[in-house]
Amino acid sequence: MELLKNKIIEEGKVLSDTVLKVDSFLNHQVDPKLMKQVGEEFANKFKSAGITKILTIESSGIAPATMTGLELDVPVVFARKRKSLTLTDHLYSAEVYSFTKKTSNEISVSKDFLHEDDIVLVMDDFLANGQAALGLLEIAKQAKTTVIGVGIVIEKGFQFGGKQLRDKGIRVESLAIVESMSDGKVTFKEEARI
Ligand code: 5GP
Repeated sequence: MELLKNKIIEEGKVLSDTVLKVDSFLNHQVDPKLMKQVGEEFANKFKSAGITKILTIESSGIAPATMTGLELDVPVVFARKRKSLTLTDHLYSAEVYSFTKKTSNEISVSKDFLHEDDIVLVMDDFLANGQAALGLLEIAKQAKTTVIGVGIVIEKGFQFGGKQLRDKGIRVESLAIVESMSDGKVTFKEEARI
């Protein structure tokens, strides 16, 4: 997605060879127009899949997932990283190791919002080593839903998450695949699909 790639080039900050900061449009401040296009792109890719629900993780997955949900006219459920007082049992949960925070979190979704007949699109802002996506897939599996694929805004193609998921036969669609961030310069894979 050209608009997204341009935005990454113009506003992204390479914090190290492996961490990209995109706080000005995705991870802190959100660019609604860009997110609208992100939603349209995902909706276009998955429109014939019969999706009934989008499953993402708080907080940065929510904006792109919500815009996709708007386009596909389906609800969006986000996994919580901390158990709230009103969310005690009656949960699906999975352990997720955070690439950016270097800690493990238990993520949870209420059993009220995922059902056996749901056809699910898993979404997140970044794909690095695949831990967040695998945690969401585990929750979708516990709920006995059908997962149609994984939609990612920015995949870091030099980390192994994308390969790991695709090797399992999962359809992964990423709107921008970063090939390298060495020397502070972001380069993309030619095709937005490996
Ligand atoms: P994974 O679970 O695939 O290893 O990492 C994906 C998760 O870590 C995403 O939910 C995202 O929030 C965070 N993440 C991974 N790499 C980056 C990065 O380079 N920049 C930012 N901003 N977040 C990242």
